[in-house]
Amino acid sequence: MITMTETINTICQMCYFKCGLRVTVDDETILRVEGMPEHPVNKGRLCAKGLSAAQLTTDPDRLKTPLRRTGERGSGEWEPISWDEALNEIAEKLLKIRQAFGPEYVGYYRGQAPGWVTNYNYVIRFMNSWGSPNIFTHGHLCFTPRAIAHAGTFGGYPEPDYERANCIALFGYNPVYTSPVNYAARIIWAKERGAKLIVADPRFTNTASKADLFLQERPGTTGALVLGLIHVIIAEALYDADFVQRWTVGFDELETFIQDYTPEAVASITGVPAAKIKEAARMIATIKPAVVVDGNGLDQHTNTVQTVRTTSILRALIRTVDEPGGSVLVPPLPFVDVQRRGARPDDFADRAVYRYPLYFGAGLTNTGVAMTDAIATEKPHPLKALIVQGGNPVSALSDTSTLRKTLQMTDLLVVHDPYLSSTAQIADIVLPAATFLERDLILYYRYRPSARANLIALQNRCVPPVGESKSDLEFIIALARRVGLGEYFPWDDVKDAFDQELEVHGISVDWLRQHPGGYLREYEPEEIYRQYEQDGFDTPSGKIEFVSSLFARHGYDPLPTFVEPAEGPVSTPELAEDYPMVCSAGLKLGIHTGTQFRSLPWIRAIEPDPFAEIHPRAAAEHGIEDGEWMIVESPRGTIRVRAHVTPSTRPDVIMVTHGYGEPYDENSGLTNDVTGEDERDPIAGATSNRSFLCRIRKADR
Ligand code: SF4
Repeated sequence: MITMTETINTICQMCYFKCGLRVTVDDETILRVEGMPEHPVNKGRLCAKGLSAAQLTTDPDRLKTPLRRTGERGSGEWEPISWDEALNEIAEKLLKIRQAFGPEYVGYYRGQAPGWVTNYNYVIRFMNSWGSPNIFTHGHLCFTPRAIAHAGTFGGYPEPDYERANCIALFGYNPVYTSPVNYAARIIWAKERGAKLIVADPRFTNTASKADLFLQERPGTTGALVLGLIHVIIAEALYDADFVQRWTVGFDELETFIQDYTPEAVASITGVPAAKIKEAARMIATIKPAVVVDGNGLDQHTNTVQTVRTTSILRALIRTVDEPGGSVLVPPLPFVDVQRRGARPDDFADRAVYRYPLYFGAGLTNTGVAMTDAIATEKPHPLKALIVQGGNPVSALSDTSTLRKTLQMTDLLVVHDPYLSSTAQIADIVLPAATFLERDLILYYRYRPSARANLIALQNRCVPPVGESKSDLEFIIALARRVGLGEYFPWDDVKDAFDQELEVHGISVDWLRQHPGGYLREYEPEEIYRQYEQDGFDTPSGKIEFVSSLFARHGYDPLPTFVEPAEGPVSTPELAEDYPMVCSAGLKLGIHTGTQFRSLPWIRAIEPDPFAEIHPRAAAEHGIEDGEWMIVESPRGTIRVRAHVTPSTRPDVIMVTHGYGEPYDENSGLTNDVTGEDERDPIAGATSNRSFLCRIRKADR
C-alpha cells in the first residue's frame, strides 16, 4: 500500500504557552512530533508534554461517541447515541428551561483544556445571544485574583521583561516546571549574563535551586513577607522618591501602614529570618532594573488578592512598572467583538448568580464557587442546566465530595470532553471532544514571544478527530442553530468564523497556514515602555494606587493588610491540635496541565502516582519511608499518596500533587477530596487549597 507522509506545522496546546510544533503524519497516524525552529515562543524546544502530544490521538481511553446516561447518575451505565440525538435532546431541554424559568437558569462552565482564548469568545457569544450571564470558570484558582490585584493597583496585567532585567524576584512561581521552554529558559539566560535571581516559595523548587537568594515562607504568608520587604525599602529610603511623588497616590498612608511590618515581626509570621528579608529588599531595590513576578503559587489562598497587592506595590516603589527590564503593560491587539457584547440587555449583570463584583468585572465571567453556591442554595436562583466544556470541575475545584452532590442537583448536566472525566461520570449526556491535533484554531498570544510582542498563529489540524469527536466551536455552532440562535452563528464552517475575526489584522486562515511562525506584532521601545507618561495608568486616579480606590469603592480594605490563612495553626489553633500539619495541595508538575494528561503512557511513566513531599524529620516521626504510601487526612476527607521524603519542604508542611485521581487511579482519591470550599478570599472567591490543616499516617498497605 502506498502511503503519504507529510509534515504539518501546528501549535501545541498541551499548555497555554502555545509552542510551535512540526508534526510528521503518515496515513493519518502521527509518526513524530518536533519543535518548530522558526516559532518565536519555543524556537524548536519542546517539553515532555509537547513530545507526548501524539499519544492523545491513540489513547484507548478517549471517548469515541456521544453517550446518554441510562442508569442512576454516576452509575456508569451509558448508551451510545448520535450527535444529532444528543444535540436535539440538549436543545429541547434548554429551551424548556428557558421558557419555564428564564435564560439565566442555564449555566456554562468553561475550563482551559481543549484551547481557551479564541473559542472562549464563542462561549460568551453563545451565552450573550442566549441571554445568560452565568458563565463560570476555574479562574478563582488561577490568574484572575492576581489580575484583580494588578487592576486595583496599576490597571493592567504585567509581563516580565526578563531580557533587560538585572534582578529577577519570583514570588510563588516555578517556571522550570510550568514554562520550561520559555520563561525558565529566559531566566536562565538572564542569569548567564549576570542577573541575580531571588525566589520566595514555601517549597524549595527547581527554580529556587538556581536562585542567589531563597526565602522559604510558611504557606499563605507571602503577603506578610512582601510587606516586610516594603518596610525595609521605605525605612532605608531605597524607593524611587521622584517616581513615587509624580506617579503614585497614597504613599503617606502606606508609610504609616507599613510600620507594623518590621523584618523581625515578619520573620515571626513567615519563618524567614529578618536578615534574609533585609538582604532581599536591598537586592530588589538596588540592582536595577528589577523585575517582580507573582506566580500561580500565590493563588489558592484566602488572602491571594491582597498578597498580590503587595507585589504590585513593591513594583511601583522601585519604579519597575512599564519600564525596560521591569513589568511591561503590553497593549492588546485590535479588538473584534466576537462576544457580541452589544447584545447584552441593560439588566444582564443583575441576572448573574451570586458573584464577586471585581471578579465579574474583570472578565464578565463568574467563579466556580459562585456556580456551586447558586446550585446548592438556589439563591438568587438555581441553575437548572449546566454545560461543562474543556474543564473538569469535580477534579479541579475544592471539596470534591460536596461538589459531586451539588452538580447532581441540576436537571441537566452536559459534559464535552475527550475523556470520561470525573465530572463526565456524573453527567446526563457526554460528548466526545477533539483535541488540538484534530482541529483548526486561531490562537492569540499576548506578549508570549517576548515582553514586546503579540502574536497570532494557526493551530493546524494534523489528523482526523478520534471517533466522532468534535471541536468545542463545532459543538457551540451546532447547538446555537438548534436553539434558534443560528443567525448569530452563520458560518459554513469554523474557518469562515476565524476569517471574519482576522479581517481587522489584514490576514486570513490561509495566510496563517502559509506562515507557520504566525503574525507577529513587535513593538518598538517607544511604543511599549512608559506609556503612562502619555496616557497615565488605567486607574481612577491615573496613577499607581497604594491605597486602592477601586477596592475602597467595593468595601474592601484599600491597603494590603496581611490576614492569616483562614485555616491554620494561627487562625484555628484548636483545630490544629487534631490536624497539626499544614497541607499545600497545589503542587503542579511540569508534565501535567491542570487535571490533564495523566493517562498518556510517557507522562505516566515519569510520575505515575500522586505524592506528598514530606520533610525527613516529619517522615521519621510518623514512621514513613520514602516511596511508601501514606494517608493525608483533613477535616473534609482522606487521600492516599506516595511519600517523597525531601528537605525541600518545611518540617511542619507537606506539599501534595494537584490533579491526580479518577479516572486514572481509583485507589488514591482525588486531591481535592481534602480541600475545602467554605473559606475563601473575600475579593475573588479563591479557596484555600494551598494552605489548610491536615494530619498524616503511614498507609496500611
Ligand atoms: S511548554 Fe510544553 S506543553 Fe506547553 S506549549 Fe510548549 S511544548 Fe506544549
